[in-house]
Amino acid sequence: MTSLTRRTLLAGTAAAAAWRALPALAAAPHSFKHGAFDVMVVSDGHLVLPTSFLAPDAKADERAALLKAAGQTGDSYNSPTNVTLLKHGNDLILIDMGSGDRFMPSAGKLWENLKVAGIDKAKITKVIFTHGHPDHLWGAVDELDELMLPDAAFYVGAAEWDFWHGDNATRGLPAERAGFVTGARRNYAAIKDRVVMMKDGDEIVPGLQIVSTPGHTQGHVSIALKGSEDLIITGDAVAHPTISFAHPEWRTTADHIPDLGAATRAKLLDRLATDKAKLIGFHLPYPGTGHVEKKDNAYRFVAT
Ligand SMILES: [Zn+2]
Repeated sequence: MTSLTRRTLLAGTAAAAAWRALPALAAAPHSFKHGAFDVMVVSDGHLVLPTSFLAPDAKADERAALLKAAGQTGDSYNSPTNVTLLKHGNDLILIDMGSGDRFMPSAGKLWENLKVAGIDKAKITKVIFTHGHPDHLWGAVDELDELMLPDAAFYVGAAEWDFWHGDNATRGLPAERAGFVTGARRNYAAIKDRVVMMKDGDEIVPGLQIVSTPGHTQGHVSIALKGSEDLIITGDAVAHPTISFAHPEWRTTADHIPDLGAATRAKLLDRLATDKAKLIGFHLPYPGTGHVEKKDNAYRFVAT
């Protein structure tokens, strides 16, 4: 027993040391099986964001306490970016494509991390985008605006595609987000000949269903995978490990339609807690996997 524990410990330490020796890698890929799917979560690195983004109307002391509980005490915080890869039959399905090399130097590590995980990106057959923000979409092209996955099919929510291409994308937009529109259109232009529009309830492969979760952006979607319990993969419907759960009703600056974002968050958390479903959150602590517990009117993220 002792030697087994010791061997396991040594093996774990060696593996951790090997990972540490590799440059710019956030963490080893996290893999598990769910129903007919093999699931792997790969890091794209992290974002550095201002804490003032999180719940600006919340009471300062309450917000500070929740940030502290998440280990965040400064004016900015590191937000992990977890990309999910699914294997189903002959399909290799990527959920979002990370930031690419034009957003933040701390992000855009997806391709090197996939390679280290032994994944040949040329084998990816489908990409499903949760929404059109830089950290989810801008990895679609390289520095020459060439598609990173020229042979894949790309699935985009019809409402999301329409929003970013419409006049409303630029109307009333805060100046710091003007670049988001240019970037979304640049990446969408690269996939336009290979894009498939999706809507709420669409089944992309058997057991993988699109769930409309609008508010963070106009056409934001999440993905539900069938298994012994459901697995919900979300982009930014819940984006912070303490604030989004303890106070789903708090509006956030990151949401395009903050009231709708809050309503969607409450509904999604209720479904996760009621169904005891599993969750993968793009911005939750790597690998972003866990369950949701309900207590009174609040929720708690339990990482697993
Ligand atoms: Zn995001």
